[in-house]
Amino acid sequence: MLDNKSIISRLAPTPSGYLHIGNAVNFVLTWAKVKQVGGKLALRIDDADAARCKLEFIEDIFYQLDWLGIEYDEGPTGPDDFYKNYSQQAKRDYYFEIIQNLKKQNPLVYACKCSRKSIQQKGGSGVYSGTCRELNLPWEPIKTAIRVLVPQKTCIQVGKQLVCLDQQMGDFVLWRKDNLPSYQVASLIDDRDLGVNLVVRGEDLLTSTAAQLFIARQLDYKKFVASKFIHHPLMSGINGKKLSKSGDAFSIKQMRAKFSCPQAIFKQIATFLKINADEISCLDDFRRLLRVES
Ligand SMILES: [Zn+2]
Repeated sequence: MLDNKSIISRLAPTPSGYLHIGNAVNFVLTWAKVKQVGGKLALRIDDADAARCKLEFIEDIFYQLDWLGIEYDEGPTGPDDFYKNYSQQAKRDYYFEIIQNLKKQNPLVYACKCSRKSIQQKGGSGVYSGTCRELNLPWEPIKTAIRVLVPQKTCIQVGKQLVCLDQQMGDFVLWRKDNLPSYQVASLIDDRDLGVNLVVRGEDLLTSTAAQLFIARQLDYKKFVASKFIHHPLMSGINGKKLSKSGDAFSIKQMRAKFSCPQAIFKQIATFLKINADEISCLDDFRRLLRVES
């Protein structure tokens, strides 16, 4: 049960496109769960992958959070503050030092020279087959990635679900070949630094959670390991397709152009969360009507 005031959670969008209603579902759920227990909410933006992240998408995050009325206690106040004080791109050396230290202590962390293409050709499923495990390659930026060995039968309990990481992800990347932290690493370290102990994310990230728990144990991030994780179903688009951040009819930007206030979006979110939409007229109603456990 979430029953104390020391809960810390976060909204963690990736600025690789315009936010869509699926992101709003996550924000509303996270916000409501934190507010129900009087906890703290942070905003942190996953922009480590510089090539995919654009200023207009960073701006979109602040713009849409403001429109939805979602306030947070910690994090950047706007794009300028974000770039000045919070961007993951400025923390690359910091992340790298943590991974380097882990590599020094842990023989299961190794350099890998394989390309994405060669991995796909070998594995088919995209799960890395461990080609470079025994090669003892030196790490070289742009030439090698850094992976961590996931032993056979590594099954990690995430809430009520058991995720067998060796089968679902295999030896995964900690440091990318293009000399950037992997999503798992940047996300985990930022959550640890914020003191996060409640993570609310889409069920598509269940395997990522298991991967992050796997590294968090090796880094001895006790608080993160003891966190509560809630994985919620994903809202889908037309014909059950996954929503994309492309600025289509499901983007908050487009919906905002259509509706004068966010009430219409709240009602759609309520229906998706199986709450009676007639009872929802403002954000605060979610705090009242959402069940704490899910
Ligand atoms: Zn390899």
